[in-house]
Amino acid sequence: MSNYMKGIAASDGVAIAKAYLLVEPDLSFDKEQITDVESELEKFRNAIETTKVELTKIRNNAEQNLGADKAAIFDAHVLILDDPEIINPVEDKIKNDKVNAPTALTEVTDQFVSIFESMDNEYMKERAADIRDVSKRVLAHILGVELPNPSMIDESVVIIGNDLTPSDTAQLNKAYVQGFVTNIGGRTSHSAIMSRSMEIAAVVGTKTITEEVKQGDMIIVDGLTGEIIINPTDDEVIAYQNKRERFFEDKKELQKLREEDSVTADGTQVELAANIGTPDDLDGVIENGAEGIGLYRTEFLYMGRDELPSEEEQFEAYKKVLETMDGKRVVVRTLDIGGDKELPYMNLPKEMNPFLGYRAIRLCLDQPDIFRPQLRALLRASTYGKLNIMFPMVATIQEFRDAKALLEEEKANLEQEGVEVSDDIELGIMVEIPSTAALADVFAKEVDFFSIGTNDLIQYTMAADRMSERVSYLYQPYNPAILRLVKQVIEASHKEGKWTGMCGEMAGDEVAIPLLLGLGLDEFSMSATSILKARRQIANLSKNEMNELSNRAIDCATSDEVQTLVKQYAK
Ligand code: PEP
Ligand code: MG
Repeated sequence: MSNYMKGIAASDGVAIAKAYLLVEPDLSFDKEQITDVESELEKFRNAIETTKVELTKIRNNAEQNLGADKAAIFDAHVLILDDPEIINPVEDKIKNDKVNAPTALTEVTDQFVSIFESMDNEYMKERAADIRDVSKRVLAHILGVELPNPSMIDESVVIIGNDLTPSDTAQLNKAYVQGFVTNIGGRTSHSAIMSRSMEIAAVVGTKTITEEVKQGDMIIVDGLTGEIIINPTDDEVIAYQNKRERFFEDKKELQKLREEDSVTADGTQVELAANIGTPDDLDGVIENGAEGIGLYRTEFLYMGRDELPSEEEQFEAYKKVLETMDGKRVVVRTLDIGGDKELPYMNLPKEMNPFLGYRAIRLCLDQPDIFRPQLRALLRASTYGKLNIMFPMVATIQEFRDAKALLEEEKANLEQEGVEVSDDIELGIMVEIPSTAALADVFAKEVDFFSIGTNDLIQYTMAADRMSERVSYLYQPYNPAILRLVKQVIEASHKEGKWTGMCGEMAGDEVAIPLLLGLGLDEFSMSATSILKARRQIANLSKNEMNELSNRAIDCATSDEVQTLVKQYAK
């Protein structure tokens, strides 16, 4: 029997594949006295052998996909399985204490882990982590429980998880992962944003998907509507295969607009740019005819690793993006860590409200030794293309001035070192905190441009956590309160001869586009996959009419009223 669920549509596309559960399995067991020592020893030895085979496979896979460095960890793990100082005491325990294999294994390895962990020595602490990892793997084999190994996926799957952290998402192999579904999150959580740049179908915020689906169940994910079907009938599979085909056909049709300008029916030109997380996203940017990069989220460069990226590494990444974009504008946002983007190796204190806490520009200004190398890398890369630098989460004009002062200091340092720096770098801010939107006229005198970050601006204006599916109804981009803020920011920038872009998800939203066009937005920056659709939509709209629409919209009382109005105008 098919089982139907609905979540929040997070990334366009239709996936039909087997479910792959990325959840911590239950490895609980009872301590038992045994009589048959030989059979218990055999269980243990078989589990060791199976684990060796598994680890060797993972190792080879990691070497191919992630490089020799990362693969070396698994070499260390295989060595543990051959270490008599660990293996012998487990066997002795089974023989002498007559306890079952899971008990003997856990008691022995726990002892090693606690000794190594208590040592004031990084190497030994890492060894403790290795032993814990390997022991978990062996235990799973003894218990006959399968552990998830996402790096080993070698067939089409849909990933199922409570949430996927951005670094989980970054490690998924696009060749096999057709889509994913999570319990928590909303349209603007970062796993959702990344799924769009990876062009895989995604539905988030289902609350209970991990309870409803079993490993290997067939599942249909409709990222266009948020619908999910578990164990579909043959007819349902055929219907969705057809839908997927239509989706791909439409994509092909849209390709015709790739080289076109983005112009309304009555001749107003706007810029359609792409949001990226890493230089790997550039292929999608080019394929989808972006006119620039409106947001490069550099924090992803800092994730999925154990230490900060060096100035050199950053320089190479920024240079690559600038060169690939070949003179088109690239807006690079400085480090925006915090909220749902964590960096475990920085050991930042846990906070009650991470989205309101020590993050982004606040952290960068407080720890200039982290910020300065990024600024230097950007300045050095600036001669390879058209670079704009943007600071995130600016709440006060003083923060902007302080960040700008650091940038200027580093520019002077580089020039003194004889390094060439472009003198054509525009400097702007994200407008994503209501205080900054309110003071847009003041900011507009000092910045070169604004980019409205509606993902955060909406969460802060509506006081609704963007990660919480329970309050996701308050993510209301069309709420007149939001439209008024947007209008105010755009007008303030234009008064000073500056421009305003938008890089929050609202910029690529079909219902919002007519309104934003009417409000006079200059640049729309979105997931690359939304660009061609937006271009087609804009070509069919009249700027004059959208102007009238937006004037009426800001006088509405509710988001629903605005949506109804948009439907009337955008027929
Ligand atoms: C935003 O807040 O709208 C934005 C674009 O930044 P991020 O989603 O990375 O917070
Ligand atoms: Mg933001």
